[in-house]
Amino acid sequence: MARVVGTAKTRRGWKSAGGWRILLIMLTAIGLMALTARAEWATLPGSAPQAKERHAIWAHPPDAGMTTESVREFVAKCKRANIDTIVMLVKGMNGEIYWKSKRFPQAIQRGYEKFDLLEHLTREAHAQGIRVDAWLVDFVEGENGAAFREHPEWAQLNPDGGTTATETLGVARRRYPYVWMCPAQRPGYADQWLRPMFEEIAANYPVDSVHHDYVRYPGDVAPDSYCFCDYCLKHIPHYALLSYETRPSERYRIQHVQERLEANWSSDPTMVPADWQARDRREMADYILNGRSRPGGPPDMRYFFYDYRAKQIDTFVREVHDSVKRINPKIEVSAAVFKNPVQSARFIGQQWHEWSPWMDIFMPMTYRSHFAGSFESYLDHLTEVTARQLEWTRHQRPLYAGIASSYLYREEYKPFDDIRDRVDELKTIAATDATARAVKAKAINQAYESMRGRLAEVAPERARELATLVMAVTDNDARDVTTAALDNLGKGIAQLRADMPAGFLPPEKLTRAIEAARKANPDGIVIFAAGSITREKLWPALETSFKR
Ligand SMILES: [Zn+2]
Repeated sequence: MARVVGTAKTRRGWKSAGGWRILLIMLTAIGLMALTARAEWATLPGSAPQAKERHAIWAHPPDAGMTTESVREFVAKCKRANIDTIVMLVKGMNGEIYWKSKRFPQAIQRGYEKFDLLEHLTREAHAQGIRVDAWLVDFVEGENGAAFREHPEWAQLNPDGGTTATETLGVARRRYPYVWMCPAQRPGYADQWLRPMFEEIAANYPVDSVHHDYVRYPGDVAPDSYCFCDYCLKHIPHYALLSYETRPSERYRIQHVQERLEANWSSDPTMVPADWQARDRREMADYILNGRSRPGGPPDMRYFFYDYRAKQIDTFVREVHDSVKRINPKIEVSAAVFKNPVQSARFIGQQWHEWSPWMDIFMPMTYRSHFAGSFESYLDHLTEVTARQLEWTRHQRPLYAGIASSYLYREEYKPFDDIRDRVDELKTIAATDATARAVKAKAINQAYESMRGRLAEVAPERARELATLVMAVTDNDARDVTTAALDNLGKGIAQLRADMPAGFLPPEKLTRAIEAARKANPDGIVIFAAGSITREKLWPALETSFKR
């Protein structure tokens, strides 16, 4: 109950009054009758969105195409689905950009030198009353991207002095082709490259919002190994004032006045070792991560490392907000953030629940890929986590629940992925190893059997094609399978995955996820992403869910 009343108070200012207030009063009255939070949610309107619920979708440049007509068609598709904000990628993972930048022409994606996507999209979308958020991948650049090529010194470094492109990803140790840039260095990537990009967009395009993504430290490659560049090695001790810079030669030891060791923390010990300057990068990094603030105490120095990192990201978010608002106060700032700001503060420096002063809309990516359990568990956790996100941000700013369609279909995609992986494995097994081949053939058959029925039901012709491809591989326990047959099955699976037959992925999974998020009463729903919705034939489901 208190939650709903509190919401009405804190939301004053950006929600229009009138109908919304009345609705809240009604909900409050209904809520009074409810005994638990769950019961209260259950009394909210079932599948129909509230009048004020906003609908956004993340989209990539190919979704809009490269002609006036294709952009118009894409906007019309969004309009039919009651989307009111298109969050369009304009700076990608390789640092490539999709507007006609005067300041960074070297970063414009090839093919987009003459077609200004942002210009076309803002014009067509606004004609339909749809907002456009310009979405930038913040701190990631390609190893061959313009920024890293011109300024390798701006990259984040690990204790060995390597960039993130020296890391590998996954248990298969895939090469990682991206370079994360240091958010702390001034001058550096943050103030010489990235912020000027936000500023250029704000100054030259009628966008409704700029949108941060990857506004954090790396998470899937070595979350604790960055950044130990020269600048950060100097500034982490400075930030936390681990020693005085006046009278630097004076060292102070911990005073054992209190019985408990940790109770003497405020006795002013010098935490930076006397030989600090003589240490190399690896030794300094090791001390920052594993050192002890008090000799004999726990290895707790890394607390300051995490705090420093979160502060760097905060600073960047604040700087972008301030400069964008200076250029055009009407332009908003939104961000794609991880589901749990308390944990992402620790792991990736993203304490987004503290960003309300510099953020107009939060779009947490509460994707199923960040949940371990079944689909049904995800629905419950999605409601729970969305409610917690509103609590973490104290309802200070609008928050849209972010749902990624593809991850909802973990079970449906699994046989496709299994077949693809077994086919790849079969290619590496010697022709003489009949036993190993038979095992893979059996696994392919099993995966195929688990999806055959559904595929035959929704797309009989494609099911027959796949059956032929599977048989060509698994016949005779794959003993004399040809490379061509393996390639054909691999290709067939990839084609199906790229263009799923309508109905194969149950649309109700998407609609149920939207309903689950809705139970927590977020200000909007944002879907990842237009391309997957097209591939997965889910636009009609979106239209139904977002119907007003
Ligand atoms: Zn750094």
